[in-house]
Amino acid sequence: MSQDGACKLNGYPSENGGAMNTRPLLNRRLDGLGTTIFAEMSALATATGAINLGQGFPDTDGPESVREAAVRALRDGRGNQYPPGPGVPELRQAIADHQHRFYGLSLDPDTEVLVTAGATEAIAATMLALLEPGDEVIAFEPFYDSYAACVAMAGAKRVPLTLRAPSFRPDLDELRSKITPRTRLLLLNTPHNPTGMVLTPDEQSTIAALAVEHDLLVATDEVYEHLVFDGAAHVPIASLPGMRERTVSISSAGKTFSFTGWKVGWTTASPELTSAVRSAKQYLTYVSSGPFQYAVAEALRLPEAYYDGLRADLQAKRDLLSEGLEEAGFGVYRPRGTYFVTTDIRPLGADDGFAFCRSLPERAGVVAIPNAVFYDHREAGAPFVRFAFCKRTDVLEEAVSRLKRLG
Ligand code: PMP
Ligand code: GLN
Repeated sequence: MSQDGACKLNGYPSENGGAMNTRPLLNRRLDGLGTTIFAEMSALATATGAINLGQGFPDTDGPESVREAAVRALRDGRGNQYPPGPGVPELRQAIADHQHRFYGLSLDPDTEVLVTAGATEAIAATMLALLEPGDEVIAFEPFYDSYAACVAMAGAKRVPLTLRAPSFRPDLDELRSKITPRTRLLLLNTPHNPTGMVLTPDEQSTIAALAVEHDLLVATDEVYEHLVFDGAAHVPIASLPGMRERTVSISSAGKTFSFTGWKVGWTTASPELTSAVRSAKQYLTYVSSGPFQYAVAEALRLPEAYYDGLRADLQAKRDLLSEGLEEAGFGVYRPRGTYFVTTDIRPLGADDGFAFCRSLPERAGVVAIPNAVFYDHREAGAPFVRFAFCKRTDVLEEAVSRLKRLG
């Protein structure tokens, strides 16, 4: 504002002589994407003291040795100043070694790995780097909320491929029918938030063949890569024939090591794709999380027993919460991966997930997320509600006993 109080947005006085300019401040591309549901629901949990099974973050920190590694890095002055743009060499090497150890992929840590501020920045940089206005991006609906925002910020158009209950598997004939000459990129997410669907090797092969046939780029969000249950295995689509040169794989330390606040994520991709994503990334944060990068490098080298233990712990919690929710009267879609379970509230006589979640703290002292926010067609997601099970066992037991009072 100028000294006389006139509002001079856009460099000119507003027409009504100094009152607020009438043009909406939030640009149209972000229309409807105001505040994330995670912020809204975590604030509700704090305000009401309800158990927060909404936003996906663990209530117990990750391994002590990893936390200590961060302290050591801070004390030793490693990463306290801007780290290198692509990430510290120790972490890039550890990411490359992780991809080789778990998936047999060989990557050059200097040209094919990029460290980002969480998977969130990796998604944003990938979309901003690879998309032109008007390009179409096909993504599984329900989609993780930042996909819609990032595709919109790039000026591109999201084309939903709806995953339908009860299996939430993608209809790959429908996928084929949605590919047009404007389709530029397939945005995959497996294991899938919020449904817990995990793509099968056959589905991945079909998707890969479509990408090759139509010369599409693929971005694949694999932040839950280590949270796959019932003996199933995560297969990165980048490991399939013809995919390496067209795929940006995205992951993060947040979910695998239970340090969501550190915001250490990464992409792995061909040198050409990595270079493009890095161009966008350097103007977003430039760099982030200096000392934590060293700690995550150590975390990635944890023995098999750590990864197995994480998976077993969360599988047991999945079972505990899923069974509890069933007993409480919810329809439950038991997930194959992630740490979320999607439920159907219709057996409880409700059909509006938003209203249900807004009243749940008062009715039962629990917070959950209405899946409708992850849909373009909100009605399609209306009866579904997501609960997170990355919480202590006693917390989940208490949540279940409260939810049983609903019936
Ligand atoms: N993708 C998915 C599917 C997620 O659930 C999340 C939430 N962790 C993210 C990306 C963001 O990850 P990060 O916290 O590392 O930015
Ligand atoms: N990924 C987390 C979830 O799906 C939330 C992350 C966030 O708050 N942006 O719940």
